[in-house]
Amino acid sequence: MKNYQSMDHFWMPFTANRAFKESPRIIERAEGMWLFNDEGRQILDATAGLWCVNAGHGRKQIADAVAAQIQTLDYTSPFNLGHDIGFEFAERLVKHSPQGLDRVFFSCSGSEAVESALKIALAYQNARGKGGKYRFIGREKGYHGVNFGGISVGGLTPNRKGFGPLLPVDHLPHTLDVERNAFSKGLPEFGIERAEALENLLQFHGSDSIAAVIVEPVSGAGGVVLPPVGYLKKLREICTRHDVLLIFDEVICGWGRLGDSFGANRFDVQPDMITSAKGITNGVLPLGAVFVRNEIYDTVLNAAPEGQVEFFHGYTYSAHPVACAAGLAALDIYESEGLLERGAGEIGQYWEEALHSLKGLPGIVDVRNFGLIGAVQFAAADGSLVGPTIMKRCYELGMSIRAVGDIIALSPPLIIEKSHIDQIVDIFTQISKEMF
Ligand code: PLP
Repeated sequence: MKNYQSMDHFWMPFTANRAFKESPRIIERAEGMWLFNDEGRQILDATAGLWCVNAGHGRKQIADAVAAQIQTLDYTSPFNLGHDIGFEFAERLVKHSPQGLDRVFFSCSGSEAVESALKIALAYQNARGKGGKYRFIGREKGYHGVNFGGISVGGLTPNRKGFGPLLPVDHLPHTLDVERNAFSKGLPEFGIERAEALENLLQFHGSDSIAAVIVEPVSGAGGVVLPPVGYLKKLREICTRHDVLLIFDEVICGWGRLGDSFGANRFDVQPDMITSAKGITNGVLPLGAVFVRNEIYDTVLNAAPEGQVEFFHGYTYSAHPVACAAGLAALDIYESEGLLERGAGEIGQYWEEALHSLKGLPGIVDVRNFGLIGAVQFAAADGSLVGPTIMKRCYELGMSIRAVGDIIALSPPLIIEKSHIDQIVDIFTQISKEMF
């Protein structure tokens, strides 16, 4: 332990605090694909931090840009004052978003991007005289951050339970179907009919009461749940037919995770809004964004009298200049190194083949992959929970992963090479043989 006596004071988020503090895992520094812990050991970062360090750790170009920005303009209010870097960053970002989603509202995190998108949806419905459209539809296993709007539309029970009355929301069924789709490579074949449930929900509530549907193109925190072939296009078609907005939460899916800037591009489905965060700055500084369809922006602006604030929403740190500097430098790296497309190319192919080579090993009941995201799903014969033990064992063997129940989620930095992928597969092979 370094310059502190006790770990009692930091209440750690989404962590079993007591267990962690009994046997802590402390990371001291990071570089490229690697974390270095307080025992001097090297740990392969197979989750890019929390699905965010897409260009790898310790990028000097980003550090230099951040340092220079602090010395030039560390902060100024984004309310009624501007700074060039906010406008520059928004302009650079929309070169990557689907055509027509050219307006960017900045927040400080993914959770806040979600809250902002939900409020923009309501503001839009009000602005066009459809204020009765105030309900949302989310999806089971969806994760949309931790604020009240996000947990309302989210579909992970522990995140919702016990937090009182939430927003008026209904949920689509999730699309995880291991029985029919186990060991599918890429998008699963079966499950498009689960999009039809949207039709039922819209009829049940009346589509004139629904503002928007929000889904992750690929659910990350829910256990890497992939959209069945044709599913997202079906959602789009139903939303358009019923005059309901479609929001893609791409906080994880964006910035190369699925082999393109956004899942919307990779799947060729155009939502009305996209939420983004994490990889938008390579995880280096907190920043979130909502990409908004131009007509939504125009409608909200034109509904307000000239000279008055059009949308009563924003954050002290919206478009924080230092975070924008980090984001611009991250974009430079993504573009110059071709990182955003890597998951759709040769390395994505290698990732798929390598992960699927685990099929048939004891205890492994499914492997899923797309772009540079993946999951290895375990099951113990007696039904006991094994994910947390696997996570600890991975760490002992030199790899950091994320366990969602018995699903091991993988989302490595996009700079990953074949040797790292081989190491990931070797560790799972060893664990499967040891534990099952
Ligand atoms: N939305 C999705 C899809 C996420 O995966 C996350 C975080 O993992 C969030 C929102 C929340 O982002 P943040 O933790 O930055 O608030």
